Amino acid sequence: MATLEIKDLHAGVVTDEGSKEILKGVNLTIRSGETHAIMGPNGSGKSTLSYAIAGHPKYEVTSGEVLLDGENVLDMGVDERARAGLFLAMQYPVEVPGVSMSNFLRSAATAVRGEAPKLRHWVKEVKDEMAKLDISAEFAERSVNEGFSGGEKKRHEILQLALLRPKFAILDETDSGLDVDALRVVSEGVNEYTANNDVGVMLITHYTRILKHIHPDYVHVFAGGRIVESGGKELADDLEENGYVAYIEKADAAA
Ligand code: ADP
Ligand code: MG
Ligand code: MG
Repeated sequence: MATLEIKDLHAGVVTDEGSKEILKGVNLTIRSGETHAIMGPNGSGKSTLSYAIAGHPKYEVTSGEVLLDGENVLDMGVDERARAGLFLAMQYPVEVPGVSMSNFLRSAATAVRGEAPKLRHWVKEVKDEMAKLDISAEFAERSVNEGFSGGEKKRHEILQLALLRPKFAILDETDSGLDVDALRVVSEGVNEYTANNDVGVMLITHYTRILKHIHPDYVHVFAGGRIVESGGKELADDLEENGYVAYIEKADAAA
């Protein structure tokens, strides 16, 4: 049983004009076995939350804590965060020409597991997971993210999830750019992972449609850089029907 605690997190983006505050006191606790959906309008700071937890250099945490089983994640380097069991889907969004997916994934697994997976076993593991995600075999030989379609990038993220087996996974806009079939395959990949592993998931999304496939235990509405409402699945139904307007007003009133 593991716990990820976000306590009164304030963070901003570092720009040429200085630092701009985006996260204004985020509080959230996720335990293994739980899936939390973070839902909010565009520009509310959802990606900033994931970048701040990931340790992205453009984002600066100004106060608050992120604790993984009591250990301060914010003091850890990016690799250390991965070894501690944190997975951030957008951690490697870059194109890496000349590095095949197969080699990239093995290096990532080596970094997380602390030793290189045995090659024969690894090849089979990758092959099996790729088959489950409807990823064609030639994908393994392609350069990382180079010329990947939106759907391929998302499948790649879920492939990483399945192979790296984190304790906590932060999935940011896993549903964006996916057609209906790809959305189903990617969702099934997440569901299979959560069914077979004691993992905590933070599923960040703007749309409710992915929640038809992945059923969260908790839903949080994110607006104006903080969580303004928390509840169960009924909250997602309310958003589907009424949108974010009432919550944006609530966030403005609190600011
Ligand atoms: P969301 O993911 O909810 O759409 P973001 O976290 O991407 O929101 O953005 C929150 C706010 O911070 C927006 O106003 C956005 O323009 C701004 N922002 C985010 N990243 C940067 C950046 N690298 N440079 C400048 N502004 C940024
Ligand atoms: Mg956005
Ligand atoms: Mg975003």
